[in-house]
Amino acid sequence: MDVINLTKSTDWNFIEEVSKESGQNPSLCYQCGNCTAGCPYTNYFDFPVSQIMRLLQSGQKDTILSSKAIWLCATCETCTTRCPCEIDVANVMDTLRIIARRENKVSEKDIKLFYDTFLASMKQHGRLFEVGTLMAYNLKSGHFFADAELGPKVMEKGKIHFFPNNIKGRDKVAKIFTRFQEKAKKHG
Ligand code: SF4
Ligand code: SF4
Repeated sequence: MDVINLTKSTDWNFIEEVSKESGQNPSLCYQCGNCTAGCPYTNYFDFPVSQIMRLLQSGQKDTILSSKAIWLCATCETCTTRCPCEIDVANVMDTLRIIARRENKVSEKDIKLFYDTFLASMKQHGRLFEVGTLMAYNLKSGHFFADAELGPKVMEKGKIHFFPNNIKGRDKVAKIFTRFQEKAKKHG
């Protein structure tokens, strides 16, 4: 692993920014490692979640925002449940993704694209339209035939449908998205 030059790379404002947006106090973390021990994705992370917390305590903004870990996190909240200091660690990870988006420093572009496509489907139909989401994701990501062989099998079992099944009141769901997007624009 690369050695980090703390004198050069520390950004103290970043600690404040994440604390404020997440409502969590990263300084409470005493590196017990309970979060990492329970994290189901830790084998795929470039930095285990307890190391992300340590990097945050030392203001390592660039290292954190360029990490894969913040995007591979599945928001399962195991870390939050296991933290003896009652830090909502999953919330911290979520906040880090939001900041990475805002600063256009997304390391895992396909994951961001999947989230965006998923949410666009929710906005349009009021619920997830699986086939539409997968087709849109495959087209936009350039992975044209990803998981295509699974389609007929799940359709045959009636698990997913070829046409969307819009919910009653989907306009109300769409308004929630619009309100959030306007608020996000206002706050830059
Ligand atoms: S929320 Fe993310 S970091 Fe926490 S345990 Fe789940 S996958 Fe790991
Ligand atoms: S479980 Fe809590 S205190 Fe322990 S390393 Fe993770 S964040 Fe820090």
